[in-house]
Amino acid sequence: MIGITKLLCGATSPGDALRYGRDSSRLPHELLQFSHDKRPVVVWNFTRRCNLHCRHCYSESQDQEYPGECSTAEGKAFIDSLAEYKVPVLLFSGGEPFIRPDLFELADYAVKRGLRTVISTNGTLITPALARKAREAGISYVGISLDGLERVNDTFRGSRGAFQMTLEGLRHTREAGVKAGLRFTITRHNVKDIPDIFRLMEEEGIPRLCFYHLAYAGRGSKLVKEDLSHDETRKAVDLIFDKSLELHQRHRDSEVLTVDNHSDAPYLLLRVQREQPARVAAVHRLLKWNGGNSSGVGIGDVDNLGNVHADQFWQHYSFGNIRERKFSDIWEDTSDPLMRGLKKKKLMVKGRCAACAFLEICGGNLRVRAEAVTGDVWAPDPACYLTDEEIGLK
Ligand code: SF4
Repeated sequence: MIGITKLLCGATSPGDALRYGRDSSRLPHELLQFSHDKRPVVVWNFTRRCNLHCRHCYSESQDQEYPGECSTAEGKAFIDSLAEYKVPVLLFSGGEPFIRPDLFELADYAVKRGLRTVISTNGTLITPALARKAREAGISYVGISLDGLERVNDTFRGSRGAFQMTLEGLRHTREAGVKAGLRFTITRHNVKDIPDIFRLMEEEGIPRLCFYHLAYAGRGSKLVKEDLSHDETRKAVDLIFDKSLELHQRHRDSEVLTVDNHSDAPYLLLRVQREQPARVAAVHRLLKWNGGNSSGVGIGDVDNLGNVHADQFWQHYSFGNIRERKFSDIWEDTSDPLMRGLKKKKLMVKGRCAACAFLEICGGNLRVRAEAVTGDVWAPDPACYLTDEEIGLK
């Protein structure tokens, strides 16, 4: 996750993170990406069931029962173990989390155990009553997925009317007093909607907008040909940078981020070098603290059956199950070769990633994408759009 507003628009300086000792347990959530201890943010796909059928869904969710999902009691025991391990954030995801009736009971329990709780949702099921319950349960943030304007979004999400229902859900959440932002996954089909999403953000007073690059996982693994070319990605990221700078002039509190293509970090640094040379050292320091992709280290995932994964895109590979061992034991056990490799990923990556001048701030990008295209987890990420000159190979 790369904070474009923080880094490109100068909304954060290294001093902001140093003030809290860069300690996960003390940092405000918006600065967690700069922590030194990288306690994992845990995504919990606590149900796989979903009312939509999105083309890029990494969990390949359907609108059906999934037997064997963790019970409420198992969920509370899991939350206890996360609190003991000092996990800073628990992200309820799915499937569609609002389908599960014990969402608020579990969220309330997690907040009382000291965790910050956030929800990742398609937003279509959020009524005013559910939004109020989210506030009462102490939910800090709701990230709502919207992948374009009406026609594009509804096609992508496999449901006519989803766009309007999502917008209604977003408004109800905001009216209940819970911070709500948008999540937009970029593909060839919706890239032209990016300016309109910025416009919507301003019209609706949405404080946060996250652009996700496509991860080739689950149903998303069948969309490799629908991903942008390197040139198209550069243009899309340029546009996001430009629009973020414009937006920051008018709305100082708004925040734009990009996620799941960590080449954005060096690309942003190169732009700062050209346009704001006096800020290069500060931005480089922040990006180094961020460290780029941190699957298996700073972000982890637990699925509906209790299996632990390196992040939400690794549903096909598990390190163990929270019904059998504590999350912290599984997370720190490096007897598994993938877990061991991810903990020292900078030594494992191959090819241009191994030789890259920016490995320290990119972290070798998304390993699941390398595996999907080449079959080798440690091969270069095919979505890296930087030239050999830019990464110091020529
Ligand atoms: S070559 Fe690899 S490490 Fe360097 S920016 Fe690209 S993906 Fe990141």
